Amino acid sequence: MFTPENLRKTLELFNEKVQIKKEYLSELDTPIGDGDHGNNMARGMTAVMAADLSGDLPDVFKAAAMALISKVGGASGPLYGTAMMEMMKASKDSSDPELLLKAAIAGIEKRGNSKAGEKTMLDLWVPAVENLNNGTLNPATIEILVEKTKNIKATKGRASYVGDRSIGHIDPGAMSSAYFFESMIEAGV
Ligand code: ADP
Ligand code: MG
Ligand code: MG
Repeated sequence: MFTPENLRKTLELFNEKVQIKKEYLSELDTPIGDGDHGNNMARGMTAVMAADLSGDLPDVFKAAAMALISKVGGASGPLYGTAMMEMMKASKDSSDPELLLKAAIAGIEKRGNSKAGEKTMLDLWVPAVENLNNGTLNPATIEILVEKTKNIKATKGRASYVGDRSIGHIDPGAMSSAYFFESMIEAGV
């Protein structure tokens, strides 16, 4: 179950991972994008950490959403921000991670006009939530999901501009999303 405490812990751990892996995330974005994903996420998570994360579950999700939406210029800011905003809405009635994460996925799909299979963060989120549902979400299965994004040809986002040349590369947004799910697990959600 999500609690305000383990959500704050999740965000702290996610921030740490994103700051440590900032260069790596931007490197992943270089051959198939514009090389800024690590910088975008690091800037966004710095803003999340500077925000007031007190209050109940919807309050914390909302503060994170607003910081990401207002501070990240790239595609990932509005997409992660929408995910947090949809979790904020769903958390008014529930603290069930599966339910909240499914609401987040629906928000990303709508905002991004995208679905799993197009080499985006959704190729992490959608199967990770399925794994969560059947009790197999752990760092090893998350790593496999990240690796699987290599085989996909991008049809959404900047990576779609390079077409077939996107094959063989990990999607940067899927990698940062893996850090988010790992953080959730570590925080005991
Ligand atoms: P930008 O592409 O604007 O530079 P980032 O580099 O921060 O933004 O983020 C790129 C990541 O955003 C991609 O790796 C992908 O996971 C995700 N992404 C891009 N477009 C979409 C979309 N339409 N739907 C879902 N995710 C997307
Ligand atoms: Mg980019
Ligand atoms: Mg960019």
